[in-house]
Amino acid sequence: MTATPAARINLFDLDRRDLEGFFTSLGEKPFRAVQLMKWIYHEGITDFAAMSNLSKVLRERLAAIAEIRPPEVVLDQASQDGSHKWLIRLDSGNCIETVFIPETDRGTLCVSSQIGCPLDCSFCATAQQGFNRNLSVAEIIGQVWQASRLLGDRRNGDRRITNIVLMGMGEPLLNFANVVKATDLMQDDLGFGISKRRVTLSTAGVVPALYRLREVSEISLAVSLHAPNDELRNELVPINRKYPIAELLAACRHYIADKPHRRITWEYVLIDGVNDSEQHARALAALIRDIPSKVNLIPFNPFPGTRYRRSPTEAIARFQAVLMAHDLTTVTRKTRGDDIAAACGQLAGQVQARGHRPVHPLRSTS
Ligand code: SAH
Repeated sequence: MTATPAARINLFDLDRRDLEGFFTSLGEKPFRAVQLMKWIYHEGITDFAAMSNLSKVLRERLAAIAEIRPPEVVLDQASQDGSHKWLIRLDSGNCIETVFIPETDRGTLCVSSQIGCPLDCSFCATAQQGFNRNLSVAEIIGQVWQASRLLGDRRNGDRRITNIVLMGMGEPLLNFANVVKATDLMQDDLGFGISKRRVTLSTAGVVPALYRLREVSEISLAVSLHAPNDELRNELVPINRKYPIAELLAACRHYIADKPHRRITWEYVLIDGVNDSEQHARALAALIRDIPSKVNLIPFNPFPGTRYRRSPTEAIARFQAVLMAHDLTTVTRKTRGDDIAAACGQLAGQVQARGHRPVHPLRSTS
């Protein structure tokens, strides 16, 4: 990280440690990072000139070498049920989507981690867009900053965003370093101050990255399982061919080992006639029997061109009943934001796809 006049550094890209290093490199006290983060994340201020507890000289110096630039919101769609979907424009015509879902006891913000996705799950709209690139830290934390501003959240007042899930576009564990920094900023008291249990990363199962995640983060984990056997999961979630179910479960056990009260949330999309029988439910229950678990059933959300259909309501109820008979905490995710196509797997944004890349998790998570 260099702070030369030629390169204006976007301070949204820096977490607390980076910012302290940045100020030290300017010959300033690391404490400046605290002041700056309060302005950015507590006051919502991005104009150096307004930062009254910094000297005029420092403010001018910062303006010359740095910027605080969030990604640009180009469309704010509000659903009748109170959900929001924001279209956020990045470089060269690429757009990503961020969704807010209010419920009685909480408000969940769903953020994206990549432009498109390279994983090619057969039932997901984002997969059809192909993959362009990883989001920067600024583009990930900037989604939270923009949503918080547009919802009118105040640090010391009512806050509508109480939970954040990395369940938007992209596979977060394929953008490891940036995702970890951004989630640190979500949890940092000087950032958005959201408790670690209320920040959840959802993954299709990039096994080596799961082991690394445990070393550097304490965020909650949701895993897109969607099938109780390798044959079916290979078809629905192709990364399973590289990291089959047994390896994925071992990594999940390890992630919560020696962490009392932590559990894995399993996401399971219910697709008519594909993975929604009572046999599938029994096999799923057997698979996760010895892992502290919660199951999130997601009725399949259709999108143009898909060959799949949502399971009928009765099939969903039967599936859930089998899991509950096995003492598994199970909820069926309500479909929200239907009128604005904001539901799981419907986020498509606008991706200038570079085509479907082969998956190289080890290389691209570094
Ligand atoms: N790549 C990560 C993050 C995406 S999270 C992951 O796979 O977990 C989005 C969640 O919505 C995942 O559980 C995904 O499997 C699910 N999903 C994708 N397409 C869907 C669809 N059409 N209907 C319902 N859920 C879907």
